[in-house]
Amino acid sequence: MFFFDPLWFLIMIPPLIFMIYAQAKVNSAFKKYSKVANSQHITGVEAAQRLLQSNGLGNVKVEGVKSRLGDHYDPRKKVLRLSPAVANTPSVAALGIVAHEVGHAVQDKTGYAFLRFRSSMVPAANLGSTLGYIFVIVGFLLAMFGTAFGMTVVWIGVFLFSLAVLFSLVTLPVEFNASNRARQMLRSTGMVSVQEYEGASAVLSAAALTYVAATLQAVAQLFYFVMIAMGMRR
Ligand SMILES: [Zn+2]
Repeated sequence: MFFFDPLWFLIMIPPLIFMIYAQAKVNSAFKKYSKVANSQHITGVEAAQRLLQSNGLGNVKVEGVKSRLGDHYDPRKKVLRLSPAVANTPSVAALGIVAHEVGHAVQDKTGYAFLRFRSSMVPAANLGSTLGYIFVIVGFLLAMFGTAFGMTVVWIGVFLFSLAVLFSLVTLPVEFNASNRARQMLRSTGMVSVQEYEGASAVLSAAALTYVAATLQAVAQLFYFVMIAMGMRR
């Protein structure tokens, strides 16, 4: 079984280490720039309201969310949700994160293609990541016990899992684009000084790394599944 395959660990450990590194980087950047107050003393909520207004998004509501770094924009409900540390703090980190989420709201308003594609893929990706594993494992067991269609089941699993990988890949341009929009907004509105801009930007860059790490994990897993499907692991 592939849980005992040393090759599986060999393939999965580098992206895992990268993920741990990326998360440490986000945490340290967020911690550092959460302590740096922005010179205009704008809290996350205030920044959200201002940036939404200036982008003609007065219809988007701003709400709270409990989880740490759980800030997100919900395109279905047109709601921007901010965590307590972002919403109520006039920090440099808060400005970066809020501007990023407003960036998603702008993507939604302008019908940014990757965001639309990503949203449409959510159900398939959820199903694919769960069923993919099940089909690969069950198919592998069937093949091991000499069932003729075992490998076909594995290939179906590979196909299902590739939907989750595709979702993860499409997430990258969506996230990078939102951060680029955020940087542009922060610059053009004059909300931040040059120094503060650097700080907010550092938080966004660190956050982007975690998405890259997640994609690498998914791609590595798919690569291993393909090896099983091709009969390279017994
Ligand atoms: Zn985002």
